[in-house]
Amino acid sequence: MIFETTYTKDNYPIILKDNALSELSSYLKPNEQNIVLIDQDVYKLHKDYLKDHLDSLNLKYLTIISGEMCKQMSYFESISEKLLSMNINRQSQLIAIGGGATGDFVGFLAATLLRGIDFIQVPTTLLAHDSAIGGKVGINASVGKNLIGAFHRPKAVIFDLHFLNTLPNTEIRSGYGEIFKHAILNNEEEANKLMATYPSIKELTHLEDIEAFLKMGIQTKLDIVIQDEFEGNVRRHLNLGHTFGHGLEYLTKIAHGEAVMIGILFQKIINQKITAYDNEDSIFKFINYLKELGYPLNILNQVDIEKIFEYMKKDKKNIGQSIQMVLQTGDGSFTIEAVSKEEVLDSFIKLKQLIN
Ligand code: NAD
Ligand code: ZN
Repeated sequence: MIFETTYTKDNYPIILKDNALSELSSYLKPNEQNIVLIDQDVYKLHKDYLKDHLDSLNLKYLTIISGEMCKQMSYFESISEKLLSMNINRQSQLIAIGGGATGDFVGFLAATLLRGIDFIQVPTTLLAHDSAIGGKVGINASVGKNLIGAFHRPKAVIFDLHFLNTLPNTEIRSGYGEIFKHAILNNEEEANKLMATYPSIKELTHLEDIEAFLKMGIQTKLDIVIQDEFEGNVRRHLNLGHTFGHGLEYLTKIAHGEAVMIGILFQKIINQKITAYDNEDSIFKFINYLKELGYPLNILNQVDIEKIFEYMKKDKKNIGQSIQMVLQTGDGSFTIEAVSKEEVLDSFIKLKQLIN
């Protein structure tokens, strides 16, 4: 399956299939440095597969710290220096092999080194069907996630389903959080289809039919980012579940998409008050589903909502002092509303009552 973006220029292909890595050679730059930066854990898990595909391609390799840890300023500095000492030039190209953190980090290196060089995304997590598309790249600051970044489109996204076989359950749930978000952004029918296909963690870990849902997720994200690349309006809907989710992720270090899924639940509780689209029944059904899949709802008993609120206040998408949250107003329709501290605190108490 190949998608192609439809910007007016600088389009890129998104290849989604088993063994997609064999397509990488078509996107390499002949006679230039093509440097692979790969999550060290992914490298260990898939060493033979990677060697089979890449050894003949004359690439340079760097393994990098796995996961979110690579998105630190100090690490960015050290890898920048390392790449510059390899005498990269404006024609060099970076290839990110790993999850969303690797893609964000390598994309930010590509956006900034020598004022911008090309890069290719090779996502290896379910979640990265989201992060590899749309051109947002960046690293974290000590006060919050993704606060240092850029918009920088990849030259290609090569999503090889083979990598997904080694994902642990937490990462499957995390990626599923963003897939579920994309389904809701379409309509309830799409979300119901997901719930019917994956009624419990057992079906979810088998990832049967996942290609079709990844395709749905990619298509949904593409439609949105092509309409609104720089997040002036409709792209803000992609933040569904993220205002609370980012705070929860930052404080507890649970996986990004797990926090987003719990953020979607929190949104439903706020929503019951503000737009009345959600109700007790829909919220209960959703909580039971999240429990069935093993989302770490218990973590909510350990967090300080005042601290989450402080984090939510720092969100770069806020306007003035109020918190902006994406809320569902109907089947596939959304609004962005200012939510007060009182509403956040009240809803959190309600949420804790419902999950316990
Ligand atoms: P990740 O890169 O941290 O990967 C999660 C974990 O899975 C890591 O420990 C990694 O080593 C491991 N892993 C990766 N591939 C694996 C595989 N095939 N088998 C086994 N283990 C594997 O993160 P993620 O969950 O893919 O993405 C989350 C990140 O993406 C966050 O930093 C988030 O902010 C970012 N994000 C960015 C965007 C965007 O538009 N740029 C969108 C959504 C999320
Ligand atoms: Zn996200």
